[in-house]
Order: sequence, then C-alpha cells, then structure tokens
Amino acid sequence: MDLNYSPEDLAFRDQTRRWFAANTPAHEPRTLDERRAWHRRMYDAGYVGMGWPKEYGGQSATPMQQAIVADEMAHAGAPPTINGLGIGIVGPTIIVHGAEAQKQRYLRKILMADELWCQLYSEPNAGSDLASLKTRAEDAGDHFVVNGQKIWTSGGVIADWGLLLARTDSKVAKHKGISCFLLSMRQPGVEVRPLRQITGSSQFSEVFMTGARAEKADLIGRLGQGWEIAQTTLSYERGGNSLARVTRYASAFYQLVRATKELRRQGRPLVEDPVVRMKIGRIWTELEVQRYAALRVLSALTKGESPGAASSITKLSYSEFEKRYHEIAQEILGPWGQVTVAGPDEFSEVETSSGEPGTWAQAFLWSRAGTIYAGSSEVQKNVIGERVLGLPKEARADRAKV
Ligand SMILES: Cc1cc2nc3c(=O)[nH]c(=O)nc-3n(C[C@H](O)[C@H](O)[C@H](O)COP(=O)(O)OP(=O)(O)OC[C@H]3O[C@@H](n4cnc5c(N)ncnc54)[C@H](O)[C@@H]3O)c2cc1C
Repeated sequence: MDLNYSPEDLAFRDQTRRWFAANTPAHEPRTLDERRAWHRRMYDAGYVGMGWPKEYGGQSATPMQQAIVADEMAHAGAPPTINGLGIGIVGPTIIVHGAEAQKQRYLRKILMADELWCQLYSEPNAGSDLASLKTRAEDAGDHFVVNGQKIWTSGGVIADWGLLLARTDSKVAKHKGISCFLLSMRQPGVEVRPLRQITGSSQFSEVFMTGARAEKADLIGRLGQGWEIAQTTLSYERGGNSLARVTRYASAFYQLVRATKELRRQGRPLVEDPVVRMKIGRIWTELEVQRYAALRVLSALTKGESPGAASSITKLSYSEFEKRYHEIAQEILGPWGQVTVAGPDEFSEVETSSGEPGTWAQAFLWSRAGTIYAGSSEVQKNVIGERVLGLPKEARADRAKV
C-alpha cells in the first residue's frame, strides 16, 4: 500500500476535515438514541462501513480513505459509531457465507444501526474451548428450536439480533456438529440478564434460550458448517476492526496530551517533566506501530484476502499494547487518573451501547478485557504457533477426544 497522499486523497482529507469540524457534537452523546442519531449522521455522510461493497450500502472505499477518516475522527475527537459487532464481524460474516436473500434482508439495517447485533458464542463451559458448546438447535420442521445458555454477550441488553453458534448434531466430532444462525433477540424464548463488570457498568450479559425459535431461512451456510463460519467471524473480530480501535486510542492520546498541558505538579505543567515526555513519546511510538499494522490488515482486506489466522498477531499485539497504554497513562496522570467524573450509573447506558468507558480510571479497568475477549492472549499464541508458524500442536488431554 502506497502511504503517500494522492491529490484525490488530499481533497478527500480536506472535505472530511470540514465535515467533522462542522458536525462533531460539542458533547459526547450519552443515551442510545443520541448515539444512534450521531451514527446515522455519519452513515448519511458515507463514513460508516466504508470498506463494505457499495451494493450492500457501503462505500467500497480505499484503505487510504478509511485511514483518513479514522485520523480526522481522532483529531476532531468525534464520538465512535454504534453497532460495532454488527458492522465489524456479523456483516462481514454474512457477506462471506450468507445467501443473497440474507444479505438483502440484514446488511443495510446493520450499517444504519436500525438493528443492533450481538455475538452468541461463549458459554459457561465453552470459552477458549468454544467447540465444546452445548446450546442445541433442533429441527422442528419449518424452524429450529434453540435451548441453552450463552455468557459474556456484549451488548446483549440492547441487541435486536444475535449471531448464534449451536449444536445441531451431537453424534459427530464436536467441531463438526455446530451450525450458525441469526437469532432474533426480541422473542419470548430469549431472556437477557445483565452482568455487572469491574468498571461498574453492564456492558455484557448472560443469555438464556428456552424453546427459542430460529427460522430455517436464518441458517448461515450449511448445517454443520458453523465451526468454519466461526473461524471467519473470529478472524474479522481479531483483525478487521483495527483501524476503528486505533482511532479510539489516538483520540484518547490527544486528550492525554491536553491533560498534561493543563495539569500541574509542583507548580509546573506535567508536560514539562522529562519523564512524562518520555512516556508520552513511548505511547506515541507504539500507537504508530498499531496504526501501520491496522493499515496492513485493511490493505489485505481490500485486496479480497481474508484476515485468517494471522489476525491473531494483530489481536495479541493491540490488546497487550492497550494494557501498557493505560498503565502508562495512569503513571502520567497520578491521582487525577483515578477521577471518575460521573458515577457508574450515569455512564452505564453509554457503555452498554458502545463498550466504551467514560473516564481514564474506567478505561484502565476496561483495558484488562482486551486480552480475554475474542480469544485470550494464551490462545492467540497457540494459534500463531500452530497455524501461522506451523509449529507442532499443543499437547492437550481433550484433543484425544476430538
Ligand atoms: C469484555 C468481554 C466481552 C466479551 N464479549 C463476548 C461476546 O460478545 N460474545 C461471546 O460469545 N463471548 C464474549 N466474550 C467471551 C470471551 O470470548 C471468552 O471470555 C474468552 O474466549 C475466554 O473464555 P473463558 O472466559 O471461558 O476463559 P477460559 O477458556 O476458561 O480460560 C481461562 C484461562 O485459561 C487460559 N487457557 C485456556 N485454554 C488454554 C490453552 N489451550 N492454552 C493456554 N492457556 C489456556 C486462558 O488464557 C485464560 O487465562 C467476552 C469476554 C470479555 C472479557
């Protein structure tokens, strides 16, 4: 990918900069309705799902255009969009594996955030070992009947739809008996119970399915193809959303730099302290590495290459960076880093809708999550070792049973 701006890129950058200068709200949207309104404004301007094909409501934008929008959003301090799981992983999975009727039915509503999505994969005894999942989907003639429990479902409380993995055949090897469905969360057989997190909010939940209904038309791919489809979803989850993530890191970085200019220690602004300057420099350097890594993923996606197992490298790298980033931010801010400008309840709706914490203290706590969700760091190392580097498979007692 050529990282120099062409004259068209420069014109696009200027136009984008003007748009965010004129449209970025003065105050962070707080309620779900406010966030949806901001999302729609960005969608109408063509800044949502930019990499998606035009035929499904995207812009078929170049990686450079996407990078420009990400940079301009960070500089303007523009709030993020919503429906991250829908846009980042569910939509791309439907584009790769879905039938044309499913693409027509679901994709545009995902982009416009008319329908919000969650991911119904993990279970109490099936996290890292996802293939052990026990939720069942049984053929009842014209539909499937779903029974079981999911856990750690991000955005479950506000989701209209869920991307579900369920067992449709228990007689074959565990990876082979799983199928993938689109499940309506708005039905009597689905109960969502919020879980309280260390940040004080309830960004994720438990989901109980009791005689829930999945339509035959909402089976993605073939019966028993669920594991293969899950690999596509996970590769997007681990690698595909990187630029949006870098935008959020960069936005926070600019705030951090502003704070070091305003806050004083022993009568001098923090930014004049050489140790603070060194720490800021370290974050910035690592941030640039993350930015170029995100551009590489984006460039591959635009050439039609799936992120594949190599997305585990991106995931391991950004999630471990995020922890270091917030540890350093806490060191720089000292006691100010502990300030929560509003109580958890005031933040809870915003967090529930976006997963984004509202203060440095909450962001620090939230940064621990990245090395767990979408597969823990230990699991990413196994994937990198076995599927990227071709090292021998780890010896595990349960492998013998597969
Ligand atoms: C903030 C957050 C949001 C989430 N959102 C969703 C969501 O929307 N949808 C969804 O389906 N799930 C979601 N998850 C769940 C997430 O995918 C699981 O937590 C994750 O896969 C780990 O599974 P587990 O929690 O069962 O831990 P376990 O699998 O029980 O792991 C426990 C520990 O053992 C280690 N370990 C396990 N297996 C191995 C191995 N083979 N080699 C070395 N070490 C190993 C792990 O690294 C970990 O440290 C979310 C999690 C978090 C934290």
